[in-house]
Amino acid sequence: MLTLEISSQHPQEFIDISAAVRRAIRDSGVRDGIALLFVPHTTAAVTINENADPDVVRDMIGDLRRLAPATPTHRHAEGNSPAHLQSSLIGVSLSLIISEGAPLLGTWQGIYFCEFDGPRRRHLQIKVIAG
Ligand code: ZN
Repeated sequence: MLTLEISSQHPQEFIDISAAVRRAIRDSGVRDGIALLFVPHTTAAVTINENADPDVVRDMIGDLRRLAPATPTHRHAEGNSPAHLQSSLIGVSLSLIISEGAPLLGTWQGIYFCEFDGPRRRHLQIKVIAG
């Protein structure tokens, strides 16, 4: 298993990790198989979305804020209940098909680490399985 270290810079942020994931898969030596990506955090997530226009992920962050706003009725004392919900809405794992030593992605797709309660030092785990 490989671990990527990620340092987020903002409270909410989508970080394009496509190149790092590609490198990890290439370095594994697996040509055909599956890569499982897992985020071991409760206020972060991982997803695939458009990497051509940066406004797409900016809009997604704005929409997630509107979907899960902070409210005075939240009971969680840490004060980051919206980030917990955003993490679960996007999800903490992803499966990728590996073909010819690289993740199979559409032309406009990139892999994003999603920070919802930064800035923090984060980890993303990658398990590459041949087959
Ligand atoms: Zn919390």
